[in-house]
Amino acid sequence: MSSQTNLAARDRKVIWHPYTQMKDALPHIPIVRGEGVHVFDEDGKKYIDAVSSWWVNIHGHSHPHIAKKVSEQLSILEHVIFAGFTHEPAVLLAERLLPLLPGKQDKVFYTDNGSTAVEVALKMCLQYWNNQDKPKTKILAFKNAYHGDTFGAMSVSGRSIFTDAFNSMLFDVEFIDLPNAENISRLTSHISYLSSEVACFIFEPLILGSAGMLMYEAKYLDQLLEACKNAEILTIADEVMTGFGRTGTYFACEKLQNQPDIFCLSKGLTGGTMPLGVTTCTNKIFEAFFSDDKVKTLYHGHSFTANPLSCVASLASLDILLAPETLQNIKRIEAKHADFRNQIAHHKKVKTVRQTGTIIAIEWETGNKTSYLSNLRNTLYQYFLDKGIILRPLGNIVYILPPYIISDAELDYIYDAIKLALEEV
Ligand SMILES: *Cc1c(COP(=O)(O)O)cnc(C)c1O
Repeated sequence: MSSQTNLAARDRKVIWHPYTQMKDALPHIPIVRGEGVHVFDEDGKKYIDAVSSWWVNIHGHSHPHIAKKVSEQLSILEHVIFAGFTHEPAVLLAERLLPLLPGKQDKVFYTDNGSTAVEVALKMCLQYWNNQDKPKTKILAFKNAYHGDTFGAMSVSGRSIFTDAFNSMLFDVEFIDLPNAENISRLTSHISYLSSEVACFIFEPLILGSAGMLMYEAKYLDQLLEACKNAEILTIADEVMTGFGRTGTYFACEKLQNQPDIFCLSKGLTGGTMPLGVTTCTNKIFEAFFSDDKVKTLYHGHSFTANPLSCVASLASLDILLAPETLQNIKRIEAKHADFRNQIAHHKKVKTVRQTGTIIAIEWETGNKTSYLSNLRNTLYQYFLDKGIILRPLGNIVYILPPYIISDAELDYIYDAIKLALEEV
């Protein structure tokens, strides 16, 4: 028995993995080391992390700059309660982050992951109206959206197999279609009609990740935000996936004229090193809570809120993100993806291929055969793993979402594997 199967067997006895049907799960691959775009298993096999480890890793694994800063911080201050106390890394991160965001964001509220960043954003909006004695309780969201796995975040996410067991316990949300040329005027008039009931609109800007990398145009989102502003509906940009360069600009909302009241950030925030969540808001929101009345306080907080190690990792990640090479890398990946898109667009197995910034998604033609579809995802997943590439298809959608340091040769290796899969799978 190799050490790899040994660890996988020990894992199987004691661990319950996320998003995994444990009954038919293949042995989990033990990873012992990460470096740049690669992770290495116990037997020394290396894998290109083409999905940035669930969309978090933007600068590559075990980045030396982040590692140095985090390990220095570890012997200075590992953690301190964040109510009644503060620390330099949290303040500095807020000072650096706020001016980077499009529009004018004034305050940072820390949590520890994307779902909780969303929970806080929703609570800010609902309580905003409550604190002004103008309660509004309806929330607007996109059909098929994904905003996380806690109850509030699930409620504003599309109903799916993920939420089936809980649907009756999720609060009511008004789901709208993704905007396009045909439906935009209907959507904007629907928004003004709902004005008096709707507290806020939460959206993933430009691209719905978990829904299958569904993309829509900035100009229509802009019109939705304009309609919300006119209807006094607060807006929440969930940039948990799109933030920190993913869509070609530092934030997806940079492509808009109208800006949201609130941003949710996580995933790439720490460069994918450790957990941290951020919810930012404008003074307009903040001031609705600023009061002598205790009831108007935002009663929310997590044990590891603003963890100094996570804040330092985020500061180090920002150093790298803002270096000119990183933006050049992002533009390089964008151009490479666009070239690949053109090469495969007319392949008979390609139903559609779409791209936003560093994300490219290829929808496999399934000919409406559901039996084929259910096997296809697992077959493709294993096919790429065998070639040393981590790609996790969402159903029949294969997407690449790489760390920005990926080389042209590594991208070509992934493209070639996908081209071969189009012939063989
Ligand atoms: C991943 C994701 C979340 C949830 O973040 P977690 O850290 O996994 O809780 C929320 N919104 C979007 C858009 C995401 O992609």
